[in-house]
Amino acid sequence: MRPLTRSAALSRRLFLRGTGGGLLVGSLGLHGTVYAQGAAGGGAGAERPPARPVGRVEPERETEMPVEPGRRLGYAVVGLGKFALNQILPAFGESRHARLVALVSGNRDKARAVASRYGVDAGAIYDYDGFDRIADNPAVDIVYIILPNGLHAEFATRAFKARKHVLCEKPMALTSEECEAMIRAGREADRKLMIAYRAQYEPHNVEAIRRIRAGEIGPLRLVTSDHGRILDPKDPADQWRMVRALAGGGSLYDIGIYSLNAARYLTGEEPVEVFGQIHSPPGDPRFSEVEDRCAFQLRFPSGAIANLSSSYSTASVKRIQAFGEKASLVLDPATEYEGNQLMRVSERGREQVKVKDENQFAAEMDHFAESVRHNREPRTPGEEGLRDVRLMEAIYRSAREGRPVSVEATGSVRP
Ligand code: NDP
Repeated sequence: MRPLTRSAALSRRLFLRGTGGGLLVGSLGLHGTVYAQGAAGGGAGAERPPARPVGRVEPERETEMPVEPGRRLGYAVVGLGKFALNQILPAFGESRHARLVALVSGNRDKARAVASRYGVDAGAIYDYDGFDRIADNPAVDIVYIILPNGLHAEFATRAFKARKHVLCEKPMALTSEECEAMIRAGREADRKLMIAYRAQYEPHNVEAIRRIRAGEIGPLRLVTSDHGRILDPKDPADQWRMVRALAGGGSLYDIGIYSLNAARYLTGEEPVEVFGQIHSPPGDPRFSEVEDRCAFQLRFPSGAIANLSSSYSTASVKRIQAFGEKASLVLDPATEYEGNQLMRVSERGREQVKVKDENQFAAEMDHFAESVRHNREPRTPGEEGLRDVRLMEAIYRSAREGRPVSVEATGSVRP
């Protein structure tokens, strides 16, 4: 077959796209005008672009414009570690409702260098001792806590005392008592608390939830999810993860929480029973305080069962699968920072689901900014973090006692 010339290819494309003049013209961005041969801007409905620079009508928008910088909510990021520096700070560039206005760090030189790159005022850099002075900075609306888990509760409580709203990384805190204290502190300060469950703002996961709720795969019977990686004692970000007082637990607390949270957001139910098994290789210094592997099951009121795992000693895996009566959905990878994939599998075969990718961190920060601005409950409030911490406590107990453990079911089915 002969290749089409450029103009032939264009007319063919326009012909295929449009069934009438309106569509064809719309696709050229001319908003209802048609060319009249020879007419330069005059004549009925005729507007031919002149061959010189000239302003044109605003094109149709494909993405929402950001709100004006002065109306975006101001975030202070607490802890300039691996996740904050590599994922969160760059994501402000893609946010429409949030802006970075303050930094909190124990390393002043690093904080200064980061501040200058992100246009943060040098006067809006705080250290941990001086953190409470953030109360006097009216540009800060939201404090985003990205510290080791063992410090989340303290800094959330201090942020609420400073009358700021709080976005807190997962896992919410070390114990359910700490989580409850954080929720109380937020209520007393009349400030909002959201837990940064990014997967619930990630487009492929959001699409999977939508399809399940729409009944597309039939009644959901089984969920499986596995999250694993190698814990590296040479990586500073993994060093505190080996210390119970800072991490709270091992792979379950750090990444098994993605498997656990997924089982809850995919079923839309709260489990009534959990069963866990844990193994840590004896003599491995990485696991003297926290666990290596955890396999755990959840039973839901509808009869759905989740078979989940986490590991600090297997090659990277970040997979979620939902098996319905009619079809299944496979997210693999499910919880990467970018490049996640969604597949629909049925008797008809495997079909890749096209999902418009979007920066999940920007989406998450925008969601909270909007929740604060419009005084709405965020999708993943403190109670969501508390539920996971309670369930993880029950999973540890089950593993210790070697039997299934009943958990109080709230019975709530999510929208
Ligand atoms: P890092 O160790 O890379 O960063 C933690 C930062 O906290 C440090 O750089 C330091 O910042 C500050 N810090 C204060 N006190 C301590 C301390 N005693 N020990 C170590 N650091 C301290 O960890 P991550 O960035 O990987 O994790 C931080 C949080 O983010 C955790 O809660 C983790 O679960 C969560 N996370 C969430 C992810 C997600 O996808 N949602 C992914 C990765 C992590 P400074 O030097 O500025 O003082």
